[in-house]
Amino acid sequence: MSHVLAAVAWPYANGPRHIGHVSGFGVPADVFSRYMRMAGHDVLMVSGTDEHGTPIQVQADSEGLTPRQLADRYNRVIVEDLHGLGLSYDLFTRTTTGNHYQVVQDLFDGLYRNGYIIAKTTLGAISPSTGRTLPDRYIEGTCPICGYGSARGDQCDNCGNQLDPEQLINPRSRINGETPEFVETEHFFLDLPAVAEALAAWLDTREGWRPNVLRFSRNLLDDLQPRAITRDLEWGVPIPLDGWRDRSDKRIYVWFDAVIGYLSASIEWARRTGDPSAWKKWWSAEGEGKDAAAYYFMGKDNIVFHSVIWPAILLGYSGQGSRGGSPGDLGALNLPTEVVSSEFLTMEGRKFSSSRQVVIYVRDFLERYDADALRYFIAVAGPESQDTDFTWAEFLRRNNDELVAGWGNLVNRSISMAAKNFGAIPPAVELTEADEALLAVARAGFRTVGELIEKHRQKQAIGEAMRVVAEANKYLSEQAPWKLKDAADKPRMGTILHVALQVVSDANTLLTPFLPHSAQKVHELLGGTGVHAPMPAIEEVSDLDGGPAYPVLTGDYTVGARWESVPIEAGRQLQAPKPVFRKLEPSIVDEELSRLAG
Ligand SMILES: [Zn+2]
Repeated sequence: MSHVLAAVAWPYANGPRHIGHVSGFGVPADVFSRYMRMAGHDVLMVSGTDEHGTPIQVQADSEGLTPRQLADRYNRVIVEDLHGLGLSYDLFTRTTTGNHYQVVQDLFDGLYRNGYIIAKTTLGAISPSTGRTLPDRYIEGTCPICGYGSARGDQCDNCGNQLDPEQLINPRSRINGETPEFVETEHFFLDLPAVAEALAAWLDTREGWRPNVLRFSRNLLDDLQPRAITRDLEWGVPIPLDGWRDRSDKRIYVWFDAVIGYLSASIEWARRTGDPSAWKKWWSAEGEGKDAAAYYFMGKDNIVFHSVIWPAILLGYSGQGSRGGSPGDLGALNLPTEVVSSEFLTMEGRKFSSSRQVVIYVRDFLERYDADALRYFIAVAGPESQDTDFTWAEFLRRNNDELVAGWGNLVNRSISMAAKNFGAIPPAVELTEADEALLAVARAGFRTVGELIEKHRQKQAIGEAMRVVAEANKYLSEQAPWKLKDAADKPRMGTILHVALQVVSDANTLLTPFLPHSAQKVHELLGGTGVHAPMPAIEEVSDLDGGPAYPVLTGDYTVGARWESVPIEAGRQLQAPKPVFRKLEPSIVDEELSRLAG
C-alpha cells in the first residue's frame, strides 16, 4: 500500500459551479481516488473553496456584503454541489481558516528566509477612490497599437498584442469607470528565475504526463520572471514580516495562497483526525512521505500554477533552488508526481457563460437528473484530452441507450429472471465454454480498467467496463435462459443466471469508481448488505484556531468494495429489482434548450 495524494483544484467562491467546472477537476479526481482506495492505496483527497482576491472583493462591494459574507454563501453552495455529486473528499475546506492563514504564512516565511522572495518597487495601477490595486484585467482603454477602444490592461482582444496597463490611452476602471492612478508601490516577488534550473531538472524526470501538459510546462520555463505575490488589497492573508504584518492595505496575492491550500488542507485534515503530523505521510520528502505520490487535477487554464508556481514554492521552501537554503519548519516537501489537466467542456457549441446564461449549474442539474447520469456522461464523453461539447441530445442518448438500455437492462433482466424462477441466486452446475469465456472477460476487466484509471485514461477505462456489460448482454441473448422452461432444463437455466449475476457483480465493481450511487443500489439488489461505495458527508465544524464555524465535506472511505472479483453466494435471497437508472423523455432536450438564452 502506498500513500497517494489526490489534490483537486480549488473552486473560486464567487458563484455556483457549472458542469464544465466539475468535469475538469471534481469527477475525474473522484474516479481516480475511489479506484486507488479500492485497489488498496491510502488516498488523501483534499481541496476547498478559494476565497480571496479582487473578484470576490469587487462582487461583495457590488452586493453590499463583506467579502467574507459572499465567500460564506458560495462556500456552502459549492460544498452542497460537490456532496450531491458524491465526490469523496477526505477534506473539502476553505482558504479563510486560521489553519490556512498559518500555513501560508509559514511558507512565505520559509521562502523569504531562503532568499526566494524579494522586495521590489513597481509602478502599479491603484483605484483612487479605494486605494486598492486595480488588476490589469480590470483596466480598459484604447489600444496604443490598433486603436481598438476596449482593450484590456493585459491584452488587446482586437489585435491580440500583450499590453501593460500604463500603455493604454484613456485608461479607466472597469469596476467604476474612474481613471486609475499609476503609483510606485512596494511588493514582494517570488524569484522564479532562481528556481528555473531546479524546475527544469524536475520536469525532465516526469513520466506518463499528457504530452501537451508537459510541453506547455517546459515552454513556460523559457521566460521566467519574478512574479508579484502581494497586492494592495485588504482582503487576503497578511504578510508575515515585521513592518508588514499589521498593515491593512497589503495582502498576499490570491494565487499564492490558493495553491498552498493543498498542503494546508492536508494539515487541517490531520489535525482533525487527532494525529496532527499524519499529513507527513503524503508530504514529507525526506521522511515518512518519501515514497508517496501526488496527483493534481485541474482544467487546462490552471496548468501554470501547478506545474511551475506551486513546484517553485515547494522547491524554494525546501531550499532546492540556485540560492540554496534549508527546509522551513514543515521540512522538505514533495513535488507533484503528475499534473493531470483536462481540456474544456463547451455547452451546445458555445463557451459556458453565467452572464450570458449559456450554463447549467450543478445544483439545477441534480434537481432534474441523477448524479450518476452526469458522472457517466463526463467519464464517457468528457473533456479528458480534447475540448468536448456537452449537448442535451447527446446526454439523452448516452443515458437512454447506454446507461439504461445497456447496463440497467443487464442488471434488471438477470436479477428479475433469477428472482422469478429461483427466488435466490441459483447455483452453477456445470460450466460450458461460453460460461467460462464470459467469466474470464469480466475477471480480466479488473486489470485493464484499473491500469487505465491509473494512467488517467478514464474514457477508455469506462469503455472497457461497458464492454464487459455488452458481452454479458450478448451472452444472455445467445443463451436465452427464458426458453429453458422444462423441469429438466432448470439446472442449466440456473447456471446461466448464476454466471450472468456473477458478471453483474464484477461489472458493478468495475463501474463503482464512476457510478458510486448506482453501484450501491446494484450491490443491494444482489442481496448485498453494508457499504459498497462510501459517500461523503457534510459536517459543520468549528475553526481549529478560533474563527467562525463552517461546513466541510469528509467521510470514512476505509469501508466498501475492494478492486477484485468476489464470488457470489448461491442461495442468497433476491427480490424483484426496481430500475437503477431513469429513462429520460426525449422532450427534455427542447425543455433544456429553451432554458438557455439565445
Ligand atoms: Zn489592439
